[in-house]
Amino acid sequence: MDSILVVNAGSSSVKFQVFGLDSEGRLSRQLKGQMDGIGSRPRLRASGASGDTLADRAYPIEAIPDVAVAMTVAGTWLREELRVTPLAVGHRVVHGGPNYDGPVLVDHGVVARLERLEPLAPLHQPHNLAPIKSILANFPALPQVACFDTAFHRGHDAVADHYALPYRLHEEGIRRYGFHGLSYEYIAKTLPKVAPEIADGRVIVAHLGSGASMCALHGGRSVESTLGFTALDGLPMGTRPGQLDPGVVLYLISAKGMTPDQLQDFLYRDCGLKGLSGVSNDMRELQASGDPRATFAIDYFVYRIGLYAGMLAAALQGLDAFVFTAGIGENSASTRGRVAEKLEWLGVALDPLENAKHALKISKPASRIPVYVVPTDEERMIAEHTLSLLWKMHPVGSTHARAS
Ligand code: ADP
Repeated sequence: MDSILVVNAGSSSVKFQVFGLDSEGRLSRQLKGQMDGIGSRPRLRASGASGDTLADRAYPIEAIPDVAVAMTVAGTWLREELRVTPLAVGHRVVHGGPNYDGPVLVDHGVVARLERLEPLAPLHQPHNLAPIKSILANFPALPQVACFDTAFHRGHDAVADHYALPYRLHEEGIRRYGFHGLSYEYIAKTLPKVAPEIADGRVIVAHLGSGASMCALHGGRSVESTLGFTALDGLPMGTRPGQLDPGVVLYLISAKGMTPDQLQDFLYRDCGLKGLSGVSNDMRELQASGDPRATFAIDYFVYRIGLYAGMLAAALQGLDAFVFTAGIGENSASTRGRVAEKLEWLGVALDPLENAKHALKISKPASRIPVYVVPTDEERMIAEHTLSLLWKMHPVGSTHARAS
């Protein structure tokens, strides 16, 4: 069966999924896996479509020194043991900069342009690019597609894209990019199928996972996001603080003597729910904990979601629906219930039974603003983008597209 390989590479793990392509051009997930523990305890794990274990192997630390080698080892396993020879590879790339407003077929020039964006996302971009470069070197004929977390937000009006900084800094790329775009794009694409009555309207989507943000959609287009120049802004996240007065950063430098590297580490790894609670970055652990600071961290998270709902409703000049997605949004009925209380003034009335069941529509029939739970699927979005660029390259038919 023809297939598309989807790769999401981070600093210590490479996650991958294989989507099969049937004769009608439909994609179905065949397997998902990851090589994690890179630099500590490398381990390859993968499971098939029905959850059956396909691999669970530990490697010595020196065998998998970095992300590129992890990709090579996982790719060799896929090719030699599972006989997976994908038509193309789609990659999640955090930053597309000011110019990419959609996915792009990768070549050496694209890689060079994406490398120039590394200072804008130093903790993600180099790792996202590592497997792209290694596949480009080893399989130059295999089409690769870069799909960006920023692209979906590139249509924002100038007032939503600027900071109030001298214009030259905007020209240099200091802009409110917004992230989680592949998730929001998937939701925008799914709404006409699962909730056609709201798909063209003014919708706030709350992507609540380890990383968290909210997006204002109007007619399926992003018009505003809680994230900006980096993935540090907006809502508090597992380990990131969310919106912070830049004066706090100045204080940490001048009064605490923190260096840029220390600050970066602190802001990306030690703040958010973890910093507030002192217990965990994980919502399940916070909910299970009896520690009052864990309770406070959840209260803070819910409060900020409520605040940003007000901001995004203002950006939309009204509201027609609210959608929850990602790990917390899809699975935590109690967080949804708490958030819904903060939205009552906007006209939200949750149905506790539907909410407890994680139903698609969790608001009461009489709720002025309907509320939905829509599971996101960024990997499928990447597979779809990859396939459509492949079809643009080879419009005659997918089998002609196979890289030799
Ligand atoms: P990532 O950004 O890593 O993809 P996810 O979207 O998987 O993150 O979300 C991870 C978060 O979802 C964690 O905080 C986790 O505790 C939370 N989560 C997952 N399932 C539940 C659940 N049943 N109840 C509460 N929180 C949950």
